[in-house]
Amino acid sequence: MTSPDYDAVIVGAGFSGVRALWETLQQGLTVTCLEAGGDVGGVWYWNRYPGARTDSEGWVYSMNFAPGMQSLWNYGERYPSQTEVQQYIGRVADSFDLRKHVQFNTRVASCRFDETTGLWRITKEDGSSVSCRYFIPATGPLSIAKKLPFAGLADFKGDWYQTSNWPADKVDFTGKRVAVVGTGATGVQIVPKIAATAKELVVFQRTPNFVLPGRNYVIDSDDATAIRDKYNDTWSLASNHPFGLPMIPSGKELKEMQGDPVAIRQMLDKAWEAGGFHMQFETFDDIFTDPESNAVVSDYLREKIRAVVQDPATANALTPRYPFLSKRPPCGHFYYETFNRPNVKLVSIAGDSIEVDATGIVTNNDKTHYDVDVIVFALGFDAATGALCEMDVRGKNNASLKDKWNQKVETFAGALVPGFPNLFLICGPHIPFGNMPVVLDAKVQWIGKTLKYMKENNLATIDVKDEAVEAFLKDLEAAFQATLFAESAEKSGAWFVGANIPGKAKGPLFYFGGMQSWLGWLAKESDSAWSSMVFSQPVKV
Ligand code: NAP
Repeated sequence: MTSPDYDAVIVGAGFSGVRALWETLQQGLTVTCLEAGGDVGGVWYWNRYPGARTDSEGWVYSMNFAPGMQSLWNYGERYPSQTEVQQYIGRVADSFDLRKHVQFNTRVASCRFDETTGLWRITKEDGSSVSCRYFIPATGPLSIAKKLPFAGLADFKGDWYQTSNWPADKVDFTGKRVAVVGTGATGVQIVPKIAATAKELVVFQRTPNFVLPGRNYVIDSDDATAIRDKYNDTWSLASNHPFGLPMIPSGKELKEMQGDPVAIRQMLDKAWEAGGFHMQFETFDDIFTDPESNAVVSDYLREKIRAVVQDPATANALTPRYPFLSKRPPCGHFYYETFNRPNVKLVSIAGDSIEVDATGIVTNNDKTHYDVDVIVFALGFDAATGALCEMDVRGKNNASLKDKWNQKVETFAGALVPGFPNLFLICGPHIPFGNMPVVLDAKVQWIGKTLKYMKENNLATIDVKDEAVEAFLKDLEAAFQATLFAESAEKSGAWFVGANIPGKAKGPLFYFGGMQSWLGWLAKESDSAWSSMVFSQPVKV
């Protein structure tokens, strides 16, 4: 049996990479982790733009793989800032002495499966390479930024920044004329921050979003003690929630409440006041599937936008026409209020496009020009598949993952890809749409179980049978089609169906059937000696 350099190579040292490092070391494997950044953190290492913070509460944006982990968070705010999250991941890595297994500033260029030896060869950008038996990309669902499509950017005389690769040093906007392009979750976070110091801020919006109020607050030591005391219960609640959040569905649908408009209003007001994702997870249980129920919530949110934004034309432009949840709603902190400031202007480019020139931004239809000193791009990510395709992954018969996925994205439960033996995905396509730390924990546990089974049974490689992939994809598609946004998500350009990247194959990139149903696919395998898988024996050389 040819010996690899390592049993496992993990790519990426964000939440999923750190979690996978711990898991593989627990299994007694030799492992290295290749990380492009200079520290652990993953997306939290790169996205250090002003205002960056989680939009799941800190008590569930965490890890829980070993006893006592609740003491590793220094809970400071309801939604931890980028700095807090980065420090937390660092503390987890240090507590379990994981950093020594990470090769920082190391970007992967290609990954090849060798059918003769059953090993993967992972080649770094500097040309050096390592071989391994198990290849575990932990590259995150939202890590490869959308390419900037502005040919004129090279001529721009001012400064420009991309939120997904923000400089470590503070950027000073004081007295500057600034443009922000993009109003997704990232744009929504950075806009109020820049508005506070810029002389003028112009926000270019192509599609409006339903921005939910975050209602962040400071956590004092008493609150932090309570969070730590309830840590395991909170984690268990989240693990049993379809979207991995510690929320309790109302148990009510619109049709049961239709005769009681006061009760409906009270329920919606409560969710609005609570802030964050309580709006979609603690109001009507059928908000994802019933157009009428969704319309009641959508109209309520539209009314709130008009109530906050003073200029009617600006309020109108900020108001989405599509059903709530057709795009992933951002969580804002005084986002709508920012448009009441005299130094902030919204430019709607719906049905239009923009170009950059030497002195600023020009709209392509009516050629209106906006002179600016600084441009900030928050254009989003090539979600789910982007990072994996960028690494030039090749499986059996030298087949390219990118080529395959350009035709159709196929996985088994977002964990295995047919024709790519011993490739274990963590946060790629087809994982449940939801709170990632909870989702990835479940996935890594299953990968750990699978590796243990292979070791105990002296199995060299695992691949998945086509019929298992087909059955899973059928369920994935059915779950997506059951949502009311099966059509509107693509029209509104949602990244979770690939509609934000020109030329990308469209379809559900995430599983909308809920965590428990998804876990059922994985559990069925581990409970049946991985009956949908094909294993190979070690090759003697
Ligand atoms: P996004 O939601 O995809 O938003 C990108 C924005 O850029 C959209 O407004 C988009 O307009 C615009 N855009 C793209 N290309 C453009 C072009 N050529 N011209 C003009 N505008 C263009 O990306 P994101 O804001 O980075 O958020 C992505 C996801 O990351 C979020 O949904 C969330 O899951 C995650 N995230 C989380 C947090 C958090 O935890 N707090 C923070 C940030 C991001 P269209 O809508 O018209 O395409």
